[in-house]
Amino acid sequence: MADRILVLSTGGTIEMAPGKKGLVIGPGMHFDRNTAGIPPGVVLENQRMFSLPSPHMTPELMLRLTLRLQELEASGEYDGVVVTHGTDTLEESAFLADLHLRGSLPVVFTAAMRSAGEMGVDGPRNLRAAILTAGSKIHDLGVLVVLGDEIHAAGRVTKTCTSNISSFNSPGYGPLGFVDEDGVILHRKPLWRLSMPPGPAVLDTRVGLVRCAAGFGGELVDYLAGQGYPAIVVEAFGRGNVPPEVAASVKRALASGVMIVITTRCYEGRVLGVYAYEGGCVDLMEAGALTAGDMQGHKIRLMLMSSLGRGMCREEIRSLLSRL
Ligand code: ASP
Repeated sequence: MADRILVLSTGGTIEMAPGKKGLVIGPGMHFDRNTAGIPPGVVLENQRMFSLPSPHMTPELMLRLTLRLQELEASGEYDGVVVTHGTDTLEESAFLADLHLRGSLPVVFTAAMRSAGEMGVDGPRNLRAAILTAGSKIHDLGVLVVLGDEIHAAGRVTKTCTSNISSFNSPGYGPLGFVDEDGVILHRKPLWRLSMPPGPAVLDTRVGLVRCAAGFGGELVDYLAGQGYPAIVVEAFGRGNVPPEVAASVKRALASGVMIVITTRCYEGRVLGVYAYEGGCVDLMEAGALTAGDMQGHKIRLMLMSSLGRGMCREEIRSLLSRL
């Protein structure tokens, strides 16, 4: 029986064309299945969800996309789904979906770093690779991101370069596999991924994100706590350490019932209670802050939105984060 693959379009450079002043969303994707080498047995369908540059994506729109993917997973209508998306926030949309999908339907996000009008356009090749991956009958890998011939796990992948076509990487982890001229080559499978309990995604979007820099004060944490945010992610230095002024604000926020989750602005490696000086991760944890291993701040922000949306308590969230 033919593989039925659905391509869900959301916008991004893969659908852009030159306008008067620069790239804008164009008439749609230029994709010729004959020249792109899609096997004849694959039945492709295309549905549009959004026509947006991905900096215009919001958690609410990402939620709509996740709910649609949950619906498709439950229906069993397709053998695989490819989502085309702008590269700027692709990793957030893919991660939110990854938190909520059970893994029975292969879901692959792809994009393009170059628009159709540019020399060396990568969109059609990436789309072909994503379609082959979605149709490869490989289950339980979680949501995948395929660009530049590489297959990455949504939880680990990030855009590392503003312009290069090999921009998408999984620092410290590497790709799960590759897509070559003759098909999909998988080398490894994630042992574990961060997942929400079964059920439709719900978000509480009031989760702040503050990135530390040398000499920072605690104003931003104070402001978000004062605005009634129930949770704030603090992207700290190194092992999870912040300046004393930020620590004072974090402690005030914690005392007033705000959940604080510490991540690191480092490119690789885990947050851990190693330093006990004022503002060190030990100091913050003793005050009640949670830590999020080596997950990036912008992804943990979405995970907290989902957890709070589901009404999960601090202990349940702590237990999810403790495996990172
Ligand atoms: N700015 C574009 C977007 O994210 C970049 C891209 O798609 O590559 O929509």
